[in-house]
Amino acid sequence: PFFKEYLPHAPQAPVELLAKLNANENPIGPSPMAIAAMQKYAVGGNRYAWKELYALMDKIAAYEGVKPESIMMGPGSSDLLEKTAMVFFKEGGNIISADPAYMSLIKVAEATGATWKPIKLKDDWSHDLAGMEAAIDSDTKLIYICNPNNPTGSITEHNELLDFCSRVSEKVPVFIDEAYLGFLGEGLKKSMVSLINEGKNVMIARTFSKIQGMAGLRVGYVVAQPETLEIIQSVTRGGMGITLPSVHAAMASMDDTAFSEKTIILNKECREYVYKNLKRMGYDYVPSSTSFIIFPIEMDGKPFLEKMTAEGVGVRAFEIYGKNWCRVSMGTMDEMKLFTAALEKVLV
Ligand code: PLP
Repeated sequence: PFFKEYLPHAPQAPVELLAKLNANENPIGPSPMAIAAMQKYAVGGNRYAWKELYALMDKIAAYEGVKPESIMMGPGSSDLLEKTAMVFFKEGGNIISADPAYMSLIKVAEATGATWKPIKLKDDWSHDLAGMEAAIDSDTKLIYICNPNNPTGSITEHNELLDFCSRVSEKVPVFIDEAYLGFLGEGLKKSMVSLINEGKNVMIARTFSKIQGMAGLRVGYVVAQPETLEIIQSVTRGGMGITLPSVHAAMASMDDTAFSEKTIILNKECREYVYKNLKRMGYDYVPSSTSFIIFPIEMDGKPFLEKMTAEGVGVRAFEIYGKNWCRVSMGTMDEMKLFTAALEKVLV
């Protein structure tokens, strides 16, 4: 791989931070309607939640415009990325993805016995789709595309990706992780889900952790062909991991469109604020289509994180293509101000 991440503490270590900008969480969520639903249904926690989960699946299927059999639920999309990896790679094979990419599915694929074929992003930080296609061989079991990508925040052009997925999925299944797609403010218009009704062998992962602000409540899903989901679900049960209150919270959250709109607006304002301040301080950045921004720093990741943490600001640090980078999540505007002040102190 061409990148590595510095982790001075375990990612979720209980450090008290004034600004927690290290995990791409929603600073204002969950929606008040989701919280009310959690509280209301906690009392039903003695029962398994299958019936309610099916109701949520119907609601999601209607929202996505697919059949309920095309939906697989999990406690967050991580769970589904990992289950997909376990089932797809139990007899080995290789996985193709961008480098850098979000590593959850890839790491489990490797642990299960797969080989990772990393393909560098292009100069404009979009996926090198031609390079990825050229890397396919008879052992390739899956192509993983995170769009927009994490940790870069960059996006691959919609029509190019649609064409790639449509064509290449005839040879190898394509898994598209759309965790951050909604931050574009164009809803699902740029999603790959439309390929499902065309019968294409694609899988699309989505999560309630980001725009819906439910990272700690754990709900995510995959949209795929029913035959593919049957294979995964014949060995694993994603739905078993979701709690009853979380199922109700997810349904309530889907109804609270004002909340997601508010999230998207705040995220955009914070991005503009960070761009403006990075420019003022003479830093470059990768234009972001997500709820986080990466920019190059002239300091090694480890001391940088230690210094930022000492200022009470949690961010992430990566080495990508031989350079050091900071990844900062969009929080509240107050948090972004703390971040800018800390950055000025640490880097300037
Ligand atoms: N996919 C991407 C690209 C992510 O960045 C994340 C979390 O940061 C996830 C999936 C997993 O999120 P969750 O398991 O909370 O749905």
